[in-house]
Amino acid sequence: MTEQRQDPILIVGGGMAGALLALLLRHHGAGAVTLVEAHPLTLPDSPPLTPSFDARSTALSAGTLGVLDELGLGAAIREHAAAIDTVHVSRQSRLGLTRMQAVEEGVPQLGAVVENRWLGFVLLRALYADDAITVKAPEHLSGVRRLEAGYQVTLSGGDTLTTPLLIAADGARSRTREWLGISARDTDTGHDAIIANLSLAAPHQGVAYERFLNDGPLALLPLPDQRYALVWTGPREQVEQWLAMDDATLLTQLRERLPADAPPVTAIGERQRYPLVLTHACAQAVPHAVVVGNAAHTLHPVAGQGFNLTVRDLLALASTVGPSATPGKLSVLQQYARGREQDQALISQASRWVPELFRVQQPLFAHSRQLGLVALDILPGLRSGFARRAMGL
Ligand SMILES: Cc1cc2nc3c(=O)[nH]c(=O)nc-3n(C[C@H](O)[C@H](O)[C@H](O)COP(=O)(O)OP(=O)(O)OC[C@H]3O[C@@H](n4cnc5c(N)ncnc54)[C@H](O)[C@@H]3O)c2cc1C
Repeated sequence: MTEQRQDPILIVGGGMAGALLALLLRHHGAGAVTLVEAHPLTLPDSPPLTPSFDARSTALSAGTLGVLDELGLGAAIREHAAAIDTVHVSRQSRLGLTRMQAVEEGVPQLGAVVENRWLGFVLLRALYADDAITVKAPEHLSGVRRLEAGYQVTLSGGDTLTTPLLIAADGARSRTREWLGISARDTDTGHDAIIANLSLAAPHQGVAYERFLNDGPLALLPLPDQRYALVWTGPREQVEQWLAMDDATLLTQLRERLPADAPPVTAIGERQRYPLVLTHACAQAVPHAVVVGNAAHTLHPVAGQGFNLTVRDLLALASTVGPSATPGKLSVLQQYARGREQDQALISQASRWVPELFRVQQPLFAHSRQLGLVALDILPGLRSGFARRAMGL
C-alpha cells in the first residue's frame, strides 16, 4: 500500500512570524511546508532587507531565546546580539524607579537584543537548508478557493497550490486574512515610533531602559559594539518635528529625556518611523486556516512584547498541528486558539493600558503611577511576576 502524501502546509508571509513558523512546524513533525513572501528572499549571502527584516532591532525574551536554542539557532543569534542583564523602568521628573535583574530572577540573562536583519539572515539560512521547505518569493496570492479539505490558492506567477492548512502571516494589513473573510479591528493610537541606533561614549553594561515621558514611552535596548537601539514614541505631529530636525538638535532633545545614569549618547544613526496602529483579528482559527503574528495582533512596541508573544503562539501552533495527520481540522485549530487566549489577552491589554496610564497628567494618576513603580521596586515578588511574564517563562 502506498502512503498518502499530504499537500504542504502553506504559510503566506515570510517575515519574522512566517519564517520562524516554517522551521517550528518542521521541528514538530510537519511534512512539507511552502512559504510565500511578497519581497525577494534570495538564498542569504548577506542579511535580507524586507518590511519585517529591516532596520529595527528586537528584544528577544529568555523564552524566545529558548525556542531558538531548541531549533539550534540560538548560538548564531547570540553571535550578533547583546544580552539584557538589567531593565530600568522610570518616569520622567518623578520618583520611582524599578529594576529587574537577571541575577534576582535566577536566569543567566533577561533576554537579548538582535538587529532584525541578522535575525532574518539566521532564519532564512535555516529555511533554505531544509529541503522540505519551499520558498516562493517574490510572490503573492492572486486567488483563494475553499475546497472540502483545505484551500486552493493561485499565486501571482500563475502556480496553483492546494493545502490542508493555510496560514496568514502577512502582517497587520493581511490580504490573506481578508481572503479568508476574517475582519480585524484597528486602533490608531495617534502616536508613531521613531527607531534609530545610538552610539555611546561608554559601555551599556547590558542595561535596557524603559522611560515613560509625557509625550509617550521611550526604550533603549543594548546592542553589540557599544550601541543602543532607540524606540521613541510620541504624538504624530511631535514625531514629524523630531524627524525634521538635524542630528545635533535631535540629540539635544533626546538627551533631555534620557535617564541621568544612562551612558552618554555621541551619535544617532538613520531614523525610521512606524505608525502605532494596533490591530486585532476578530478570529484566529477557521476551518483549514489560521492567522498569526501581526496579522492576528499588532501591539504597542513599548515593552518589546509583540514578537515574543507571537513566538509563544507559534510554538503552541506548531506543536499542535505539526504532528497531526489532519492539521486543518477545526477542532485542532480551535484547541490551539483557545490555549492562547489568556496570554494574548493579558499581553495585549497590558501593552495598551501601560502607555495610556503613564500619559494621563492628573495628580491622582501621577501619584498612583509613582506608587506603582515604587511598589514594584520594594516588592520583589511583584516585580518578579512582571519579569517572568515579560521573559516569556
Ligand atoms: C518599532 C517596533 C519595535 C518593535 N520591537 C519589538 C521588540 O523589541 N520585541 C518584540 O517582541 N517585538 C517587537 N516589535 C514587534 C515585532 O516587530 C512584530 O511582532 C513582528 O514584526 C511580527 O512579525 P510578522 O511576521 O507577523 O509581521 P511583519 O513583520 O509585518 O511581516 C509580514 C511579512 O509578510 C509579507 N507580506 C505582506 N503582504 C504579503 C502578501 N500579500 N503576500 C506575501 N507576503 C506578504 C511582508 O513582506 C513581510 O515579510 C516591534 C515593532 C515595532 C513596530
